[in-house]
Amino acid sequence: MTATTTRPGRVEVHGVHKSFGTLEVLQGIDLVVEPGSVTVVLGPSGSGKSTLLRSINHLEKVDRGFIALDGELVGYRRRSHRGGDRLHELQEKDLLRQRTRFGFVFQNFNLFPHLTALENVVEAPVSAQGRRRGEVEAEARELLARVGLADKAAVHPRQLSGGQQQRVAIARALAMRPAVLLFDEPTSALDPELVGEVLGVIEDLARTGTTMIVVTHEIGFARKAADQVVFMDAGRIVETGPPEQVLDAPRHERTRAFLAKVL
Ligand code: ADP
Ligand code: MG
Repeated sequence: MTATTTRPGRVEVHGVHKSFGTLEVLQGIDLVVEPGSVTVVLGPSGSGKSTLLRSINHLEKVDRGFIALDGELVGYRRRSHRGGDRLHELQEKDLLRQRTRFGFVFQNFNLFPHLTALENVVEAPVSAQGRRRGEVEAEARELLARVGLADKAAVHPRQLSGGQQQRVAIARALAMRPAVLLFDEPTSALDPELVGEVLGVIEDLARTGTTMIVVTHEIGFARKAADQVVFMDAGRIVETGPPEQVLDAPRHERTRAFLAKVL
């Protein structure tokens, strides 16, 4: 079995604020994700879940606060300046290198339509990490097998079901050997009968100790796979805890109201 990561993957979100114009979408987010753990993020539409995920790998620049991965600031570097410390934005090249430590799986798969499943998985490790194509291809075949698609290597995305496309997207994320996998509603675009096969793959990954942050409305998945459940509303984390606490004995009325709607 190919190692998916060689690194721990501890994520720390500290005092993060983010606005779009006058709308403050993240209003002071604090969150710690331990290496090898699974965090499920729940919350109503518009509560800031996607913005939080995108901020974690610096697809969004936060206005205040910071994100760290294994103690290293994401998107910035600390440099001493006249006796004090100042933050400097990372150069594009360093940012890209840092970003490859996060794998991102989107709601709409975002596969390259003109590439086969195998080529989709091989592309980034070769072009962004400069690894040898032959070696990456062998690993990509293993990864496709791991998500149950060994026989689909030569097929293009349009010939695959949504569930199969999302499993290719997961293999593609894993091919970068990320320290942390970020999933933004990975099953929301799927027909109901295809949700289970994708959640099954994510659960298998969870058991291998991959650090994951998963935004989803799938409460059953949260119960089975999550070490911690985070409930967000209106740009804040309302409560955080183990699934049995947040899902079965929520402390806040807003969490209860949300759960009553999705359960
Ligand atoms: P969620 O994923 O929980 O549904 P989002 O993080 O996508 O929430 O969005 C939170 C709020 O921020 C929403 O009101 C959304 O319209 C707004 N928003 C998100 N991205 C942008 C953007 N790039 N520009 C302006 N507003 C945005
Ligand atoms: Mg979203």
